[in-house]
Amino acid sequence: MMTRRTCMGALGAVPALAMAQQSSTSSTATAGVTTRIRRLQLKHTWTTVMSSSTYRDTIFVEFHKDGITGTGEGAPIVRYHESAASAKAAIDAIVPFLESCDPGHYAKVMGEVLARIPGEWAAKAAVDIALLDWASQRMGVPLHRMFGLDAADAPVTTFSIGIDTPEVIRQKVAEAKDYPLLKIKVGLDNDDQIVTAVRAVTDKPLICDANEGFPSKEAAVDKINWLASQGVQLIEQPLPAQNLADMNWIRERVRIPVIADEACLRPEDVPRLAPHFDGVNVKVDKCGGLQQALRMIGMARALNLKVMIGCMVSSSVAITAAAQLSPLVDYADLDGNLLIANDPYTGVLVRNGKLILPNRPGLGLQPNPAA
Ligand code: MG
Repeated sequence: MMTRRTCMGALGAVPALAMAQQSSTSSTATAGVTTRIRRLQLKHTWTTVMSSSTYRDTIFVEFHKDGITGTGEGAPIVRYHESAASAKAAIDAIVPFLESCDPGHYAKVMGEVLARIPGEWAAKAAVDIALLDWASQRMGVPLHRMFGLDAADAPVTTFSIGIDTPEVIRQKVAEAKDYPLLKIKVGLDNDDQIVTAVRAVTDKPLICDANEGFPSKEAAVDKINWLASQGVQLIEQPLPAQNLADMNWIRERVRIPVIADEACLRPEDVPRLAPHFDGVNVKVDKCGGLQQALRMIGMARALNLKVMIGCMVSSSVAITAAAQLSPLVDYADLDGNLLIANDPYTGVLVRNGKLILPNRPGLGLQPNPAA
């Protein structure tokens, strides 16, 4: 653990030294890049209105240079025609470029990566995270410090309760006893029963995610107002992503914030959505990395939108990366690593629901001895 004094020393002195080292080595040392697909086993079968599954495959990238390894991960999204295999192929195709670049120039490098890889946003996110992990380790600072953020500002994270039978839901709520804010997937025919089952065992505040599942604007208003009466504080994506026309009709008739998720992929979506939603859910895997996510958060703030940072099911690599930006947001939904049984790393922790960012250089990942 760094003391305050050594932290200040790291901030003040090491970056200058690190830059000197970089400039002396970047012209001669070659980087190595490795990509790997990992199968993450889910603790519970995960059901949303879109799919049901027992595992997820994600793409891992390691960036090796000057004795430092930067690690990144992206969770490819089937909806956007991404798979772990397509993500791996996309990164493998630019390995010669990545091996020739200076990862200290991570902003410039990611500009090239965004231009060189068509689609494959999870792949881009994995590269971005690996570059930033490498660069902040090289500077000797936790990544959130490179962004000028205070770990003490990290919010509580929600813990998601997947769609299931009332019996299993009661069990899942019991497992979530350390989390003060629960998230429930709604939008299926039995969502009243699910919320009622949760309410039978806890009075914690809830947020709900419809994943585009409400059948009409009228049904959405009825359901959102009922959910609000049950202590639900926010609703995500009530209608299909392309339906912006009905969103203000809904917002005029409900009293909890309505957040865009499936409608919001990348920075250019934020100004388009601003007149129709109260906030946006930013996901690193969908936008192509932390640098893209930072653009989205800045744009959302300029447009007076609430900001949520969300995640896909993934290991502690992607979740710890997203958590580095959590001091900037209103709501964090970063529990994707808590849903898997074989996390290869540890990183961000949750204490009484609050995200605890590692106080180690880079992402601060460590191998998980239990994996
Ligand atoms: Mg969502």
